[in-house]
Amino acid sequence: MKNKNILSKMSISEKIDLCCGLDFWRSVPFEQYGIPKMTVADGPHGIRYQGEHGEMEGIHDSKPATCFPTAVTTGCSWDVELIGRIASAITSEARAYGVDTVLGPGLNIKRNPLCGRNFEYFSEDPYLSGKLGAAFVKAGQRDGIGTCIKHFAANSQEYKRFSSNDFIDERTLREIYLPAFEMAVKEGQPAMVMSAYNKINGTYCSDNGWLLSTVLRDEWGFEGMVVSDWGGTHDRVAAFKAGCDWSMPGGSRHLQRHALRAFQEGLLTENDIDCCADRILTRIFDAEKARKATKAADFAAHQKLARQAAVESGVLLKNDEDILPLKTDAVALLGLMAENPRYQGSGSSHITPTQLTSLRHSAPHWSYAPGYDLYGDTDEARLQEAAQLAAAAEVCVVVCGLPDSYESESFDRKDMHMPEGHVRLIEAAAAVNANTVVVLLCGSPVTMPWLDKVKAVLYMGLSGQAGAAAALDLLTGVHCPGGKLAETWPLEVEDVPCSHCYGEPHKDAQYQEGLYVGYRYYDKAKQTVRFPFGFGLSYTSFEYKDLMATPEKASVTITNTGDCAGAEIVQLYIAPPKIGPHRPVKELKGFAKVFLEPGESKTISFALDNRSFALWNDGWQIQEGRYTVLIGASCLDIRLSQKINLSGIGIPMPFWQPGSWYETLTGHPTKDDLELLLGAPIVPAAPPQRGQFTMENTIEEMAEKSPTIRLIKNIMVRNIIKIHGEDTDPRDNMLRMSLSFSIDCALFSLVLTSNGSMTENMALALVDIANGKRIRGFKRLRKKDG
Ligand code: BGC
Repeated sequence: MKNKNILSKMSISEKIDLCCGLDFWRSVPFEQYGIPKMTVADGPHGIRYQGEHGEMEGIHDSKPATCFPTAVTTGCSWDVELIGRIASAITSEARAYGVDTVLGPGLNIKRNPLCGRNFEYFSEDPYLSGKLGAAFVKAGQRDGIGTCIKHFAANSQEYKRFSSNDFIDERTLREIYLPAFEMAVKEGQPAMVMSAYNKINGTYCSDNGWLLSTVLRDEWGFEGMVVSDWGGTHDRVAAFKAGCDWSMPGGSRHLQRHALRAFQEGLLTENDIDCCADRILTRIFDAEKARKATKAADFAAHQKLARQAAVESGVLLKNDEDILPLKTDAVALLGLMAENPRYQGSGSSHITPTQLTSLRHSAPHWSYAPGYDLYGDTDEARLQEAAQLAAAAEVCVVVCGLPDSYESESFDRKDMHMPEGHVRLIEAAAAVNANTVVVLLCGSPVTMPWLDKVKAVLYMGLSGQAGAAAALDLLTGVHCPGGKLAETWPLEVEDVPCSHCYGEPHKDAQYQEGLYVGYRYYDKAKQTVRFPFGFGLSYTSFEYKDLMATPEKASVTITNTGDCAGAEIVQLYIAPPKIGPHRPVKELKGFAKVFLEPGESKTISFALDNRSFALWNDGWQIQEGRYTVLIGASCLDIRLSQKINLSGIGIPMPFWQPGSWYETLTGHPTKDDLELLLGAPIVPAAPPQRGQFTMENTIEEMAEKSPTIRLIKNIMVRNIIKIHGEDTDPRDNMLRMSLSFSIDCALFSLVLTSNGSMTENMALALVDIANGKRIRGFKRLRKKDG
């Protein structure tokens, strides 16, 4: 009623203004109607509050906040309660800074280990991502601060991230890329959903009424508001109609002009605008209520929680001869990351920590040599210094992984390798010390040609501001490692089912592998992997017994049979009958983390429901038949199983299925295979020629065809380099991110995020010039926007 009243008094252009941002982080206030400002800030792993004057370039400049381990790491905890505690700590810090909604968690599925932003996502599995995401939303919102699940949907690559197009079939979307969002919405009702930059089958997510209204609101019952990704509103008129309520960031005025013109021409109705404005008002007033209860954040308690989270998320990947926990203090600590840790991801989730520990600082009595530089390069002198220390020690701990320059929002990795300097350092240490232990700091799987030469590997991921102290706790046995991988580690990138069609130079993302992502592929294709999904070692051991399963529930008893206290992550998979439409061999449908003292046993139970068994066949359907409930310590270490019968229907297999890739999984899938799933031909976008450029193209793309744009591009690049410092290494992640946000950003996005330095007229002029209409272009350049 309150909203209705207010909306009845507001003019059309005021309502349109409300649906666009004021600036980078806030909504437009209207004092005359009692509408206050609402503030949002990034925060999947800690709050990135930039104060009053945030903008894209100041991406690493924010107020101090607790830096929790990133999602790639907390995903390995498989601990919904822990994720909840992290979320409520983050939202309490948000509240202390006056931020109303935290832009996280990220619920995209890891399709390929090369995605530069994988560190921000939990898993390759939709059930695990969904449960952890829902836990974040439920606990994070307990005190009225909002959360925003992102990036909706199927946002799986950074290459051409502002305008890439996903070719993806509905079954794959429904079974793999949407369920994590669906679970978070149904279980947690997040305040906001952020639409992704990419298109799905030709329609930008911001303009996609099927995604944002039919699926999200009508089917799942989402009651909150949708915000565009920053600069991701492709067409404000289509976005209004689709139900993309809030266009962010604010600052430029052309979207408002487009919407007003469309309204005047009868292409947009007042109701279209009111529906969006109404949902924004609801959020603004809810946020206002929550703001009244401002409390101080307990940063000291959050530091402890950050350490506990990192402890619970560390994964022990190898431990020959029980070299860990360490039994000696004569340790050589090698690798610059021991002193200058990589502990969080680069890009919009990067925050300023309240404090930071390093292994070198935490273990000052260990001898130390850096071994390589910031970019992972090394030389003989560095290696020799390190090898000397290694030779003199009883155990050698090498800290290495991926530097920021290898892994960041805005660009994908080219391969799965660690920097050569890191590999050479491990090899140099292992050559002189048989007791070499590697601590890995990276946000994605890496190749490990050195694995046989070392005795142990502890994967800490990107473990937050207290990650080094946590690593020391695990190395020395203060705590027992209990994390398990939330994604498969393939041997080589070529083993990834979409490796041949992923990322550069493929602007369009063809999801040729369909459902067969992560273990769903490796399992059915019988492809050897480095470490399977759900894998992790412990200092203790567990026995599994007494599985009892029905279609509604399963229970199993776990006993700690070793001699130290520890946690076991118990996984429940369902294997479907081998009839009807093709399916993965098994899928995760339940998990539990159980803490046990030595000798202690606990019986744990899992609830099962229709979705534990259903597949998407124009709706969720259950194939009648015999299913197997599998209980495992990883997806390849199944300890117990029980068959159960389920009634359902006989779902026929598609006519094209026999012998198809989706049945055999031999070799790589092709465009023709995906066409079978889509039931339609795929016409990939051809590289644009002169005359065909639009606002969806980037300066980089236009520069390839137009000498004038090439000149402009070179000037822009020179200016950006100047801002970062002439001697900045071209590999620098911040420099690369700035270049991506400028010359490799779709022009419509650039206009929205450039803080006024690229107006709509300027962008249209560039398009004209690239298309050979130079006179019109230069005339436009002289025109003022408006
Ligand atoms: C990212 C979002 C982020 C937003 C605001 C975008 O570039 O994709 O995840 O929330 O910027 O920083």
